[in-house]
Amino acid sequence: NKFVFVTGGVMSGLGKGITAASTGRLLSNAGFDVTAVKVDPYLNVDAGTMNPFQHGEVYVLKDGGEVDLDLGNYERFLDIDMTSKHNVTTGKVYQSVIEKERSGDYLGKTVQVIPHVTDDIKRRIREVAEGSDVCIIEVGGTVGDIEGMPYLEALRQFAHEEDEEDIQFVHVTLVPYSKNGEQKTKPTQHSVKELRSIGLQPDILVGRADDRLDPETKEKIALFCDVPTEAVFSNPDVPDIYQVPLMVEDEGLDEYVMERLGLADRALPESER
Ligand code: ADP
Repeated sequence: NKFVFVTGGVMSGLGKGITAASTGRLLSNAGFDVTAVKVDPYLNVDAGTMNPFQHGEVYVLKDGGEVDLDLGNYERFLDIDMTSKHNVTTGKVYQSVIEKERSGDYLGKTVQVIPHVTDDIKRRIREVAEGSDVCIIEVGGTVGDIEGMPYLEALRQFAHEEDEEDIQFVHVTLVPYSKNGEQKTKPTQHSVKELRSIGLQPDILVGRADDRLDPETKEKIALFCDVPTEAVFSNPDVPDIYQVPLMVEDEGLDEYVMERLGLADRALPESER
């Protein structure tokens, strides 16, 4: 199994989900069996009890799972059916940890976030990934949110447990413009610093901006965030989200991910995708 973790920096609503789903689409075009997990760090067990004015309509899956609208993007982009297992929430994780505690499964141990909650998170991700070539895991929210901490810690452990070439960390951040029209990298630098302080070093950075990133912006991000310049990609605004996979392909993000995951040799030739 290969795992691609997608985190977001600076603010939510950046297009992290769309970037993740588009990357998945391109890997699936290249002949790989791709699945996805959406992690929602809120304490609700599912989106069924949430006000639709806040998160949009509840999206109902084939097995009756009530989830965030994002899951619909994954189903459409990847052409797969998802179930409630594909949506991990803090509510679900704690519910199962507490149920296990009540039934005595922890054999007298003190039940803690590390390792019990993080183990449950990793177990859920591995369960969905089972049997696929690549599993894309999108961590909802923004790096630095208290709610997201156990998930980021679980990712750190994941990287420790799996082979280096089986994991890629993609960090999607905002690249705003200053009044004089310059692309500013400081918010990206700060969010990467935040990630690194919890032991995660992104392999790939995706900058969301109104336009493509300038070559100098990419170089600056590479230097400050400690990745090669080729690992910095743009995801500019496009008129409709179904153009995002084309943009991601044009930037070469899919090829880079396949290369890094050691999948390039097995990918279908361009002409057959
Ligand atoms: P996040 O996962 O970061 O919260 P989403 O992927 O849900 O963000 O995207 C937030 C909004 O931005 C959605 O309405 C989506 O359609 C839009 N969006 C995402 N990427 C782009 C893009 N490249 N160009 C234009 N709109 C985009």
